[in-house]
Amino acid sequence: MNLLSAYNRSSLLQKLSSHEFDLLVIGGGITGAGIALDAASRGFKTALVEKQDFAAGTSSRSTKLIHGGLRYLRQGEIALVREVSRERAIVYRNAPHLLVPEKILLPLIKNGDYGKFETSLGLWFYDMVAGVKKEERKKMLPIEQTLKSEPLLRKEILVGGCLFTEYRTDDARLTIEIIKTAVKYGAACINYCEVKDFIYENEVVSGVECDDLLSVDKNSSPAQNIFIIKAKQIINAAGPWVDKIRNNDTAHTLTPTRYSEQEKRLHLTKGVHLVVNHEKFPVKQAIYFPALTVGKDFANTRMIFAIPRGKATYIGTTDTDYNGSLENPVTNKQDADYLLNSVNYMFPAVKLSLPDVVSSWAGIRPLIHQKGKTPSEISRKDEIFISKSGLISIGGGKLTGYRKMAQRVVDIVNRNLHNSFGFPKVKCKTENIIINGGEIEEVTNYIQQVFEKINTYGLGHYQAEYLVRNYGLQCDFILEKFLELFNNQLSINNNQLIASRLDRDFAAAQLARAELWFTVNHESVFRLQDFFIRRTAMLYFDIQSMEKLLEPLLEDMKNYFGWTENESKSENVQIRKIIRNAIVFPN
Ligand code: FAD
Repeated sequence: MNLLSAYNRSSLLQKLSSHEFDLLVIGGGITGAGIALDAASRGFKTALVEKQDFAAGTSSRSTKLIHGGLRYLRQGEIALVREVSRERAIVYRNAPHLLVPEKILLPLIKNGDYGKFETSLGLWFYDMVAGVKKEERKKMLPIEQTLKSEPLLRKEILVGGCLFTEYRTDDARLTIEIIKTAVKYGAACINYCEVKDFIYENEVVSGVECDDLLSVDKNSSPAQNIFIIKAKQIINAAGPWVDKIRNNDTAHTLTPTRYSEQEKRLHLTKGVHLVVNHEKFPVKQAIYFPALTVGKDFANTRMIFAIPRGKATYIGTTDTDYNGSLENPVTNKQDADYLLNSVNYMFPAVKLSLPDVVSSWAGIRPLIHQKGKTPSEISRKDEIFISKSGLISIGGGKLTGYRKMAQRVVDIVNRNLHNSFGFPKVKCKTENIIINGGEIEEVTNYIQQVFEKINTYGLGHYQAEYLVRNYGLQCDFILEKFLELFNNQLSINNNQLIASRLDRDFAAAQLARAELWFTVNHESVFRLQDFFIRRTAMLYFDIQSMEKLLEPLLEDMKNYFGWTENESKSENVQIRKIIRNAIVFPN
């Protein structure tokens, strides 16, 4: 049975509440997903519980790069750079559909932080430690070639440039596909289910009290939605919520271990991204440039990215201390001005202003606090904390390094299970596990095949690439459903047959409906926002199409879940609020 089908939620709840698991992961972001896959593939009985949608925390709000982190090299974090750079290659091999090699131009600026010699040496070192393929190695460029690569750059401050390669991904899709892979290995993973409390046996944490936030029976009282999951080991992979969960744990132990200021804790910082139409900021490739504004010193400036993706260019990010809402971080006007001013200075012909912003997102970095360091100086390394009750927490880290982080956690779990329960020692297997959907021989060929199938219906290369990059080999299921919906709609609207065949919007709507059907049946989609933000990223990168699709998809959701008129209206209000929040920035 496919336990990620929205229709099988009661069986999944039944499984979670009736088994004792070897380990239970709290948090369905990239960190938790990676741990669930590592553990399940080593043969451990694994459960994962996420209180929002999968990836709804930081793991859908990053810069969406699988990268070695050139910046960290400048900060002397050689071990971190070596690890994440090597991981890049592994993620690329195992999820080829989800990663797009992206040439990045680094413009070198007069009196800037990145000098020619230092950059060339740094990137040479980067290529070496990361084992970068020959064709993807760094290339230093003189001024003329830098300008040819990006004619929009401010000429008078340029001293040259450098091209290097990283990988663009979709963070939320990577997370959901890793969760689906973990489920293939037997893990039980659920979204919209919140861990409220811990259960102890002899002061050792042995389970959690959960709240099923979707409540199968709408008439049940809140107490009836609470159930218990028992597990031998519990992992707190709650990203920005890690300390909140640790606090919950320490409050229960008989000898309180509430960590003091000196002990390790999280340091939360916010990062925002703005999206504009690509024609408004038509960069030829990704650019990594200093956030300069008129009158500012050129040294010690933060670096920001401008990255083209389909119809859009996105710009980010910021890095500021954060203590607001963890569930709903927002981009404020100051964040937006900072990014727009930086673009306008470095690309003088572009002239972006707030009305050009078509979407945005804000995310929170769950960094490990380092006394006296500013947000940008804090290391991005991950760390594991083990409480007296046995709760294992992991904080810090990068999307890129999720697999190694998971390996470190599951090695500890395996050691504990071996020592306490005689479990065998099992080596990590994830280096060679293909991520769900990635079983494709040649991504470009597959895109062409999909293009040939959909082209007859008026859909183009953009949609073919989008589908393959989002779903990999699973496109076949979606296309089958697309044909069914397309033909059904044609027979309903028989008199419009000829016109409809030529109508791109009609075909695009049937395709989106097929995607919705697929994600409800295979990816635990329960809300329109799950679909538009974390399964398709349409809210960020194709908000214009999203507007046209709201009505038919809301109608489908209503039919799939048996929503009443009122429920349907409330869903409509919520999704429109989400759209508004993506383009309106408070002071
Ligand atoms: P999250 O994704 O936040 O997951 C934690 C989950 O725990 C959440 O979904 C939350 O709902 C859930 N949870 C919390 N409490 C409970 C509870 N009680 N019960 C059940 N579930 C609970 N890294 C890169 O490699 N490349 C990049 O380009 C990059 N760019 C970034 C840009 C920005 C602006 C930011 C903020 C980060 C960036 N990162 C990047 C870092 C990367 O995104 C994060 O390290 C990573 O996403 C953190 O994942 P996580 O799973 O630890 O946390």
